[in-house]
Amino acid sequence: MSQTPTTTSRRELHARPDQEGQVTRLVIMGPQGAGKGTQAARLAEVFGIVPISTGDIFRANIAGKTELGQTAQEYTNKGELVPDEVTNAMVRDRLGQADVKNGFILDGYPRNAAQVTELDQILADLGWELDGVIELTADRDELLARIARRAEQEGREDDTEEAIARRLDIYAEQTAPLTAAYGERNLLVRVDGLGEISDVTDRIVASLATQLG
Ligand code: AMP
Repeated sequence: MSQTPTTTSRRELHARPDQEGQVTRLVIMGPQGAGKGTQAARLAEVFGIVPISTGDIFRANIAGKTELGQTAQEYTNKGELVPDEVTNAMVRDRLGQADVKNGFILDGYPRNAAQVTELDQILADLGWELDGVIELTADRDELLARIARRAEQEGREDDTEEAIARRLDIYAEQTAPLTAAYGERNLLVRVDGLGEISDVTDRIVASLATQLG
């Protein structure tokens, strides 16, 4: 797959000069293997915002053998969700940090209805609102092929066959239905995650430009 950087700059997206320095708050959703992490990093660059991946925070804590990591590992290894009270507190803490004030893209959160409610509450407490929610789509066979390639390249400990299948099931049962709620709020953009990485980024940016007005 091509690694060519996206051709879409932030200046093109925010063509009006009065939008320079604009704060952008995004969520990206999609099943494991859809390229969420890759696109989150690229979008963070385009918009000048901070990517926040709950999976990465858990993995860093597991690697660092922190108390949070020890709790999380029991769940991540099986592909189960870490309990909401643990995850919600972690996200609240992260969103309260100084680097987030210019905007963020949340990758991997919210993942169930309770987390949607909690995110609303966290944002309300901070006086913020979401600008857009991206859903990356891809079919299950393509996802399984991509995950197998990644498991070979990265050797992620939580990428066992059972854990992957469980994660895809949980996504379909608990996370995918959440996009309807964001659709009702006119926040949702749905983008095909298949294809060249840079093409997908361009598609997302173009859809968001319409969404964000
Ligand atoms: P990810 O890298 O987003 O696939 O996340 C890896 C693992 O971290 C998941 O399989 C869950 O065990 C855990 N995790 C990440 N985000 C969440 C979340 N929002 N709620 C609960 N568990 C999560």
